[in-house]
Amino acid sequence: MATSMKRDFIPLFTPDIQESDIDAVAAVLRSGMLVQGKNVQLLEERFCEITGANNAVAVSNGTATLHLMLHALGICGGDEVIIPAFSYVATANAIELVGATPVFVDIEPYTFNIDVSKVEALINENTRVIMPVHEFGLSANLGPLRELAKKHNLILLEDAACAVGSDYMGAATGKESFGASFSLHPRKAITSGEGGIIVTHDEGFANHLRILRNHGIEMVEGEMDFVEAGFNYRMTDFQAALVLNQTQRLHEQIAHKQKIAQIYLQQLNTHYMHLPETPSYAAHTWQTFHVVLHDKIDRKKVIAELKNAGIGANYGAQCIPATTYYKEIYNYNSQIDFPQAYRAYTQGLALPMFPGITEEEAIFITEKINQITEKEYAK
Ligand SMILES: *Cc1c(COP(=O)(O)O)cnc(C)c1O
Repeated sequence: MATSMKRDFIPLFTPDIQESDIDAVAAVLRSGMLVQGKNVQLLEERFCEITGANNAVAVSNGTATLHLMLHALGICGGDEVIIPAFSYVATANAIELVGATPVFVDIEPYTFNIDVSKVEALINENTRVIMPVHEFGLSANLGPLRELAKKHNLILLEDAACAVGSDYMGAATGKESFGASFSLHPRKAITSGEGGIIVTHDEGFANHLRILRNHGIEMVEGEMDFVEAGFNYRMTDFQAALVLNQTQRLHEQIAHKQKIAQIYLQQLNTHYMHLPETPSYAAHTWQTFHVVLHDKIDRKKVIAELKNAGIGANYGAQCIPATTYYKEIYNYNSQIDFPQAYRAYTQGLALPMFPGITEEEAIFITEKINQITEKEYAK
C-alpha cells in the first residue's frame, strides 16, 4: 500500500485508485449498462455488511443523502434541526434546502464533535431532528443523544459523511441507526467520484428513500407507478463499481492511517498545538488528522511554510454560523456563541493523511511542523 518512492510534495490528501478499480469501471462502461443497476445493488449489499444495517440506499452524493433523508421525513418550514456548529457547510445547507432551520451547538474542543451537554437546552416544540456529525472520521457521543431523542420524541440522523468504517462502543456506524449517511467524494476514505449512501434499520424509510431518489417511481405488480414528486438522485453503475472495489481495502487502509496517527500523536510538539483526542467509546478512522494551533501562531504562515517544505496542509472544516450566508441570515456572533467551533475554524490545521502516506513521510512532517510552529510561536 505505502510506496517507498520519494515524492517531491506530500499532499494533504490523494485518493487511492488502483488498476483493479479502473478495471471494474471499464467493465461497466463496456457493458453499456451505465445507470443505477447491478453494481449499485452490490454496493448497497456491501454497505449492509460493513455497517450491519439492514438497508442501504446509494445516491448521487453526500449532500443528496442528507437532503433526501430530511425531505422523506417531511422536515420543512418551521421545523428545527440540531447540528454541530463545526462541520462541512453541506450539513446545514441540506436543512436550509428543505426550508427548516439549523440550530447550531458548539463542539468539544479536541474531538471536534457536538458537545452533547449543550443539546437539551436547545430542544423546543419545533425541534424535529438531532443530526450529529461524526467529524473527521470519529463517531460523536451517540449514547446521550439517543436518550435525548427518545425522551423528546425526536429523530436521530447521523451525518457520517467522513466516517465510513467507524464505530460507537464497538458497533459499526450505521448498525443501530434510523438514518446514517456516508459521502463517497474523493476527499473521503473511499470514493465513487461523486456519491453517497444512506443506511437504515427501517425498511419503510429505505423504500421511501428509493422511491424519492428515482422520480417518485414505485413498482406495483411489475408496473411503474409515479406516486410522489421525486428527485433524480441516482448513482451511476460505473461509480458504484469504482467504490465497490475499494471497499475491500477499507479496513486495511484505516489500520494504516491509525499507525500514521500514532506517529503524529507521539511526535508533534504539544507546546505549539493541541492534538486531537479520541474518547474511549470510539475508534478513530482518521479521515482527517486535525490539530489546533496555539493562539499565538499565525496559521496562514504555517500553511505557507509547510508548502515550501513540500507538505500540503489546510483548514479542516467550517464554523458554519461564521460563514457569510449563515452569519447574515441568523446574525450569529460565533466567537461568543460557539467559541470552540470558532477556534477550530480559525486555528485548526489538517495534516496529510491518506492510504499511501508512509511512516517516513509522517516523521518528516512532524519534524517540519515542530520546527515551523516553534519559530512562529517565538515571533
Ligand atoms: C463531505 C461532507 C458532506 C457532503 O458530501 P458530498 O458528497 O461532498 O456532497 C456532508 N457532510 C459532511 C460532514 C462532509 O464532510
